[in-house]
Amino acid sequence: MKVSIDKTKCAVCGSCVAICPEVFEMRDDGVVDVKPEYQGVDITDPQIQEKVRQAFDACPAMAIVIEE
Ligand code: SF4
Repeated sequence: MKVSIDKTKCAVCGSCVAICPEVFEMRDDGVVDVKPEYQGVDITDPQIQEKVRQAFDACPAMAIVIEE
């Protein structure tokens, strides 16, 4: 699983950061993004995958993009 955020859609609500702080972060410049260590990385940990899916479901802006 790879995950990214469509920043043209992101409403910066912070839900994904609250649900899965392992993968998502709110940067100092106020942009929410995937942490550098997870950008373009194939996530294989089932627990992290589940949390990413929870964040995907919770995102009010449909801004989280998952590639299986
Ligand atoms: S949950 Fe969606 S809209 Fe909210 S900060 Fe994360 S990507 Fe952006």
